[in-house]
Amino acid sequence: MSESTILILGGTAEAIKLASQLQAPGRRVISSLAGRTLAPAKIVGEMRVGGFGGSRGLAEYLKNENVTLLVDATHPFATQISDNAIFAATDSKVTFVRLERPAWREKPGDKWTLVDTLEQAAEAIPPKARVLLALGKQHIAAFSKRNSVHFVVRMIDPPETPLDLVDFELELSKPGSVESETSFLTIKRITHIVCRNSGGEASYAKIKAARDLGIPVIMIERPRRPQVYTLPDVESVIGFVGKTLNSLGT
Ligand code: NAP
Repeated sequence: MSESTILILGGTAEAIKLASQLQAPGRRVISSLAGRTLAPAKIVGEMRVGGFGGSRGLAEYLKNENVTLLVDATHPFATQISDNAIFAATDSKVTFVRLERPAWREKPGDKWTLVDTLEQAAEAIPPKARVLLALGKQHIAAFSKRNSVHFVVRMIDPPETPLDLVDFELELSKPGSVESETSFLTIKRITHIVCRNSGGEASYAKIKAARDLGIPVIMIERPRRPQVYTLPDVESVIGFVGKTLNSLGT
């Protein structure tokens, strides 16, 4: 049996699970991270960190490492690397699959305002609101002109530069359970949440807590993306990888 090499573009919980479950004799599994997180979760198997140098750099990497199959398991809002992956896989004729968790759907009791951009989210906040901004540090600037709003900015790693907001407090923590999110929203007297439709379970508790408390959510929808072969979960990708490697005789 000849060796096969799978490259997983990661940065998500699904990518970590996939790396662990794809391990097999005669198979090389490489996980790639952008390197944005200070203390990334432990990944089973080989890991590389940092950009490839654009789509051509990624295509070059696929060739140099003799990659058999490319899995784009990056976050639904990480569009640049996904564009690069489509180009590189096509250019290098490497089998490609996108792993993308389904978006959250509005349920009875939810009070969502759907917007397309961070700027629209900023405009949708009413005056005097106390807003949980559940967004990464690189997405805060769009809210800098909003005055008469108090922001509770929650992030995992501290920002490297001071946040450009008129009135805010910083909360360095991860999303928690429904119980802890309910208590957090209540203690902080949150009247609105601004977040992106990331999907998945890890950060859904705040949405459920908001529903229970009747708190409106300003939901930034996912960017529109080119149609590519996409699977919704780790299990389906494992099935696809097995079939593909079999058919390639590796
Ligand atoms: P992005 O805007 O799509 O990518 C910007 C550049 O970062 C890419 O062109 C690439 O550099 C590099 N890059 C991104 N992901 C990479 C990966 N997995 N391996 C190697 N290089 C990567 O990405 P982003 O929104 O900044 O997200 C960066 C990473 O964080 C992604 O891996 C994503 O899965 C994870 N993440 C993102 C979000 C989010 O909200 N965007 C949330 C949670 C996790 P080169 O062009 O030099 O190759």
